[in-house]
Amino acid sequence: MRILLVEDDTMLGESLQRGLTQSGHAVDWLRDGDSADSAVRAQQFDMVLLDLGLPKQDGLAVLKQMRRRNNAVPVIILTAREALPDRVAGLDSGADDYLIKPFALDELEARMRSVERRHTGTIASVLQYGELTLNPITHEVRHRDELVVLSAREYQILHALMRRPGAIISRANVEEQVYSWDQEIDSNAIEVHIHRLRQKLNSTMIRTVRGLGYQLVAE
Ligand code: CA
Repeated sequence: MRILLVEDDTMLGESLQRGLTQSGHAVDWLRDGDSADSAVRAQQFDMVLLDLGLPKQDGLAVLKQMRRRNNAVPVIILTAREALPDRVAGLDSGADDYLIKPFALDELEARMRSVERRHTGTIASVLQYGELTLNPITHEVRHRDELVVLSAREYQILHALMRRPGAIISRANVEEQVYSWDQEIDSNAIEVHIHRLRQKLNSTMIRTVRGLGYQLVAE
């Protein structure tokens, strides 16, 4: 998932960016409300993790403006403000969930998966399409019940495709979902990963739609 992390606490920001990156997400980390506001206008994220007490602009104000512009990206508020009115205001302003600091990374990731399931309307935690399954908790991928060992990038790309099976996803969109701003992308990197994915899956499920992008189709 492409994640925007908005957190002004350096230690917490660093540890969240590191932990979520290790879990296979592309994480962009910003430290104030104004740059978060610009980022969500310029870029499509899969999820926003939003602190409330931020320099320049409060997290709640950023959230309200996003929702006013009909930006429906899932938002989880991360904050030390445990007071009930703040929690209620956050949820009423359009947050999808709320996590009180300090929290464990495991709980944050479980909540992210739960919010994503609700957002995409899927009930099962394991994604399935045709004979392909992907487990976002264990990162296990199976094709026809055979375990498929993928690199972190290959997994991220397959996850991006399996989140929207049947849809044509442009190469730029795939890049956005698997690379953060500070990661270099070779111009043919995605094609190379897709090529290996096809070999490892030994399947024709990933189609290239010339000039448009990639599409996960039934075998
Ligand atoms: Ca803060």
